[in-house]
Amino acid sequence: MNKHTPEITPDEQADLLEEAAQLGKTWSALGQECDAQNRFPTETVEPYRQSAVLAMAVPKRYGGLGADIHTASRVARVMAKGDPSIALAYNMHQAMVGIFRNSPALDDGVRDSIMTAVARDRRILCGPFSEARAGLSGLADTVAVPDGDGWRITGKKNWSTLVLGSDLIALNATVADPGGSVPDDFREHARREAVFIIPTDSPNLSVDHTWDTMGMRATGSHTLVLDGTPVTREMYGGNFRQGLVGEAEWAAMGFGGVYLGLADKAYEEAREILKAKHLGATMGGQDTDVKQVGYVQYELGRMRTQIEIAERVIDATGQIAIDGRYEEWAAAERKPRWDTVKVVTTETAMSVTDEAFRLVGGSSFRRGHVLERLYRDARAGYLHSFTTNQLYDYFGRYELGLLG
Ligand SMILES: Cc1cc2nc3c(=O)[nH]c(=O)nc-3n(C[C@H](O)[C@H](O)[C@H](O)COP(=O)(O)OP(=O)(O)OC[C@H]3O[C@@H](n4cnc5c(N)ncnc54)[C@H](O)[C@@H]3O)c2cc1C
Repeated sequence: MNKHTPEITPDEQADLLEEAAQLGKTWSALGQECDAQNRFPTETVEPYRQSAVLAMAVPKRYGGLGADIHTASRVARVMAKGDPSIALAYNMHQAMVGIFRNSPALDDGVRDSIMTAVARDRRILCGPFSEARAGLSGLADTVAVPDGDGWRITGKKNWSTLVLGSDLIALNATVADPGGSVPDDFREHARREAVFIIPTDSPNLSVDHTWDTMGMRATGSHTLVLDGTPVTREMYGGNFRQGLVGEAEWAAMGFGGVYLGLADKAYEEAREILKAKHLGATMGGQDTDVKQVGYVQYELGRMRTQIEIAERVIDATGQIAIDGRYEEWAAAERKPRWDTVKVVTTETAMSVTDEAFRLVGGSSFRRGHVLERLYRDARAGYLHSFTTNQLYDYFGRYELGLLG
């Protein structure tokens, strides 16, 4: 037994995947509209809340399905085949559930209350940790200033995915001195950086509608503004860097599922267009089928192979989790090793959408074409924390003996 041992049965897993696929299909029609209108689809919140997907990763003792990380990633993939941007929004909830389910930094009482809130009370979580200064890797500028038996939080989180569909917000803030100042020394700053889980309807909390991006527009990742938001001791979730970041696999495998589902969707859309498209009379013949063009055949095969590779990386990593083999990895190398999934799947999504665009041609350059949207959505994959360049850099430094 390890923290990734599945509790879910094969029958429950099959039902879950079917329900996720059905929910994803309802998102398919919404994706284009939400992208064009740059809006988070609030109408998806109640169906998601009532679905088995909501509490899939919550352990059975709390009323969830006890789905393992590999199953959760497969669910993200089928939902992203419906719409990747909406799937990415809800992936934030799943990442938080997975992280809190296992994080040793959390008191058991806090863990119990989060798991119960999700499985019994059907609460949705979001997790805005990044700040404008340096994304997730910058130590929190947001401060928690002691106030009576609790704190008051002040700051801004400018990547608040799913905040418009959430009931609870998990965020990081640096516990300040009573006067509001934070330590100058970065180690002490990191030691003081804590997680808080607060209700979305807390006082002195608002959402500034800043999200207007190139892609993933349905995620509603607006800016959360905290202006002396009161928080109690019961909302304290332990140290941030030693807690949440140590459960990074939940982010990596969730992103992996979403971006592989995006690649699946782009691939299938492109393949069907290429099967049907005729160029008519050309200097090469009376009626030229695009599918008869040699490089179209070759590149389609290459796209398919890239998806196969990414799928195997997800499957193998899911199995490593279930078998507990990650325990053989040194603590300092775990993040980049888990994040191999994020790197491979997001690079696959970027490459497949790029190739689909080249093969399908000019129609996919027009606004409103599904491949135009998927091309833009795929570009966000690089940014998910750590950015892919940061990961390579971290792994390189580790290999050179400069870390760990
Ligand atoms: C669609 C989408 C939704 C998101 N939703 C959320 C969310 O809900 N919650 C959340 O917390 N975050 C979210 N993020 C943000 C994400 O997790 C990253 O924090 C963010 O994309 C990276 O920050 P940045 O792009 O502002 O880059 P910066 O961190 O500002 O990076 C700028 C440059 O510096 C480099 N760099 C930064 N830090 C370091 C370092 N320590 N060492 C070396 N190089 C470094 C980067 O690689 C880059 O080249 C989301 C991102 C996207 C694209």
